[in-house]
Amino acid sequence: MRKRNWLAIGLAMLALTVLTLAGCGKKEENNTGVASSSPSQSSSASPSGASAGGTPTLDAIKSRGKLVVGVKFDTRLFGLKDPSSGNVEGFDIDIAKGLAKELLGDESKLELKEVTSKTRIPMLDNGDIDLIIATMTITEERKQQVDFSDVYFKAGQSLLVKKGSPIQSVADIKKGTKVIGVKGSTSVKNIAEKAPDATVLEFDNYQDAFTALKAGQGDVLTTDNAILYGMASQDSNYEVVGGTFTDEPYGIAAKKGNADLVAFVNGYLKKLHDSGEYDKLYEKWIGATPIQ
Ligand code: GLU
Repeated sequence: MRKRNWLAIGLAMLALTVLTLAGCGKKEENNTGVASSSPSQSSSASPSGASAGGTPTLDAIKSRGKLVVGVKFDTRLFGLKDPSSGNVEGFDIDIAKGLAKELLGDESKLELKEVTSKTRIPMLDNGDIDLIIATMTITEERKQQVDFSDVYFKAGQSLLVKKGSPIQSVADIKKGTKVIGVKGSTSVKNIAEKAPDATVLEFDNYQDAFTALKAGQGDVLTTDNAILYGMASQDSNYEVVGGTFTDEPYGIAAKKGNADLVAFVNGYLKKLHDSGEYDKLYEKWIGATPIQ
């Protein structure tokens, strides 16, 4: 009798374990063979090799056999997910693939997780991702929270307006002007300094921000020129105006104190430049875009 009870408990526990394992960490394979997951689909567990809140060292990533990178899914030219194919594509994505290939011998040994400007540092802190490659500007404030690689892309903040808009530069942003931006970006902080009288409307991501501009919820959208050109290329009613009014040097971020990983990333970036591969990547993603 007693034995049977233990057996029943044992079987129930086994069933529970199987169900839990089947239910968590559900990933989508996209056509490039790179697994990607948005926050709703990703496992709450940290990638192995990174205990929650721990630091994913280079060795731990190697023995895990997979690099987990936080990228944008909403930013044309840098990290954009095609909802029909499931592919995530862009300049940042190609850098992530190159890093996976360099580190693990195969670019498919990469998992891409969606981050937004607001979630990227918390996700790195939690151990959800090993690296952030997501249009992220190196700033003194962020340097207190993460370690950055060398600069891998130089952008600058600019403005996107509907053609014919009276706003042609940051000086035209007056009291009552509604400026659209994204939470957690340098762009919303910078615009509050450059145009202190503006009303800033903050959205969760760049897709929502552009939709809001098109719906007339704001007069102007502000972020990095390269991101804005990606939007303008989608709709000829919109244009980038006013040149740039900040410097936004992009860096790849690792958890603080992860010196091996940062050194590896810097080595890879140097190789990318030395081999001429960087110029090819730039041409592939930015070449057709007339950046001022
Ligand atoms: N590069 C800026 C930043 O890091 C704006 C782009 C973004 O929101 O990622 O905040």
